Amino acid sequence: MRTLKDINFKNQRAIVRVDFNVPLNEDLQVTDTTRVKAAKPTIDYILSKGGSCVLLSHLGRPNGFEQSLSFQNIIDKISEILEHKVLFCKTCIGPEAESKAASLLSGQVLLMENLRFNQEETKGDLLFSKGLSKLGTIFVNDAFGTAHRAHASTTIIANFFQNNKCFGSLLEKEVMAIEKVMNDGISPILAILGGAKVSTKITIIESLIEKVNHLIIGGGMVYTFTKALGGKVGNSICEPDYCNYALDLIDKAKKKNVSLHFPVDVVAGNTFSNNAKQKIFDVMEIENGWEAMDAGPESIKKFHEVIIKCKTILWNGPLGVFEFPNFSAGTIAAGKSIAEATINGSFSLVGGGDSVAAVKKFKMDNDMSYISTGGGAMLESLEGKILPGIASLNK
Ligand code: AMP
Repeated sequence: MRTLKDINFKNQRAIVRVDFNVPLNEDLQVTDTTRVKAAKPTIDYILSKGGSCVLLSHLGRPNGFEQSLSFQNIIDKISEILEHKVLFCKTCIGPEAESKAASLLSGQVLLMENLRFNQEETKGDLLFSKGLSKLGTIFVNDAFGTAHRAHASTTIIANFFQNNKCFGSLLEKEVMAIEKVMNDGISPILAILGGAKVSTKITIIESLIEKVNHLIIGGGMVYTFTKALGGKVGNSICEPDYCNYALDLIDKAKKKNVSLHFPVDVVAGNTFSNNAKQKIFDVMEIENGWEAMDAGPESIKKFHEVIIKCKTILWNGPLGVFEFPNFSAGTIAAGKSIAEATINGSFSLVGGGDSVAAVKKFKMDNDMSYISTGGGAMLESLEGKILPGIASLNK
């Protein structure tokens, strides 16, 4: 893996693919600055070594030019977060873009207009990629969030650079965190999988069962297993078409010596709402008229015992409907147990999906070893796929 330290940036112009796809409110203000902050170490490093930066990113999903998705609207905010004046170019390709980039002095930063104003970006168009490559002398990819896309600026552009391309520090951290779970994990290794449905998690389950010693299954997925094992699910979310898959998985786990852990009790509501009346059921005995929406107190204790003894922990997906405060206890408790394990020296990675949102919501982001910035990219990595943006850097 070629990283920033392997490249001499002195008097070089680095094209840095960042992920500035930030959420905006109606007044076009940035409501979460995490992604811009995450790119700062790479930019600072390049500048400190005497280089300049040409930043490339997309913002939203425009269909051609859309004023509301222009980086011009937020360039001052980006400068403020990066603590560095960022210049702006109102196009990302062509003579004007090239001459603006070429005029950069070392220590300067230029942000090009939203890549996705050009449909060639998402198509991975070769000529467009070549045009982008002319903006600098080195290519640095620091956009983990789009590394699973074979787009022009995330993947194809790298083909125009031989050895003068590398991982940015954010991308490096993400890849190392995944490695620590998928390939270099210290045993016992645990994956906690929650979320709504089994059907959307099959590829990740199949991949993880090869890697882990323990697997906690939580959230709405549980009730497909309840049904498969002959239990009663009441009104809980359930995918009967996947009952056979659930039984096969239980079998597979046994063969592979993976300990599967399910909730033993669940907190159900009489409606799907935060203010629903609550009742605790055995996971196999959920009455009609009740929808299980959280792990119960016995399950929380049981999961805690598993979590604190594991040395490598991956968490993907909440253990209940955490958006409802009255049904968030299981998700919060899992977060606390992981935090305790982390303090005791375990490595914990939270990634891919709503568990990241949950950890942030409950202000546990500083208690985990690593929180991934990339939803889809992290999921695909956990599914065992080699991401195109990463493969093209390693070519
Ligand atoms: P996912 O994107 O698959 O990780 O699913 C996340 C969603 O699963 C969240 O919005 C949770 O509210 C939801 N979820 C978790 N547990 C349950 C449950 N028991 N019943 C319904 N939805 C759930």
